[in-house]
Amino acid sequence: MAAKDLWTTDPRIELRAGPDFDLAELDRNGQPGWEGDKDDGEAYLPERGEEMSELQERLYAEGRDDGTRSVLLILQGLDTAGKGGIVRHVVGMVDPQGVALASFGVPTEEELSHHYLWRIEKELPPAGRIGVFDRSHYEDVLVVRVDELVPEEVWRERYDEINAWEKKVVEGGTTIIKVALMVSYAEQGERLMERLERPDKYWKFNPGDIDTRSKWPAFQEAYADVFRLTSTDHAPWYVVPADKKWYSRLAVTEILTRTLEEMDLGWPEADFDVEEMRKALDALEESHR
Ligand code: AMP
Ligand code: MG
Repeated sequence: MAAKDLWTTDPRIELRAGPDFDLAELDRNGQPGWEGDKDDGEAYLPERGEEMSELQERLYAEGRDDGTRSVLLILQGLDTAGKGGIVRHVVGMVDPQGVALASFGVPTEEELSHHYLWRIEKELPPAGRIGVFDRSHYEDVLVVRVDELVPEEVWRERYDEINAWEKKVVEGGTTIIKVALMVSYAEQGERLMERLERPDKYWKFNPGDIDTRSKWPAFQEAYADVFRLTSTDHAPWYVVPADKKWYSRLAVTEILTRTLEEMDLGWPEADFDVEEMRKALDALEESHR
């Protein structure tokens, strides 16, 4: 069996948050759609990555030509869910020149003085790029809601506003892929503890992570609302079980690659006379002989 056939269903169908999606039912240690084991997954990842990388080069070439298309991968998930690992191990398989990475942390004073989408809009990928958001405007209905940083009537309005804004972005030529990495409570506990047990992991730990963990149920409720209210046809959510890192990386690679495949990316035509240029190069070689 070819490795690619170990995907028995398109993960974009398997993982998509549809109208009947129930976050409480999600098996966060699962591997929906992938029939192989960890070794199969780890073997297939670089193979698929190579295909993804070639498609990304085509997208980049199109953007250098006069294309207007781009891709935006939005990554959400609580601390330790593996957002950084996706950036390193999935996005890291393509040419960094073609990637536009942006991370969104606690807003600065200047950012707070603007509309919450202001800092997001500035980081949208230019034509030909794969934009990657490590956290995003969804924090404005997640941590902002859980920590009551704005009143409810303010964050309540944001779901519709986000849907409308994303629609505009898609109409501008950007394909949006929203990925939520969902780790289980037990696994998060272990990963946080590991950060406290290994000096090479201390830097990843933030005392605030304990506070966030203590609000687990409120975050789950806020995530459930995000999936319920913002998984649109133009920008659907893929909810990825994240207890198995090898699976979440494999699944995101597959979602990205399939999306790129469907964009039907060619190579730009030469905007010069190829034959004439060949002759000119030959003539130059002659003259130096
Ligand atoms: P990290 O991703 O570990 O670097 O952490 C970034 C931190 O910034 C997280 O604790 C987020 O909850 C927080 N953050 C991101 N966006 C916002 C926002 N709009 N308002 C408040 N906190 C935010
Ligand atoms: Mg963190």
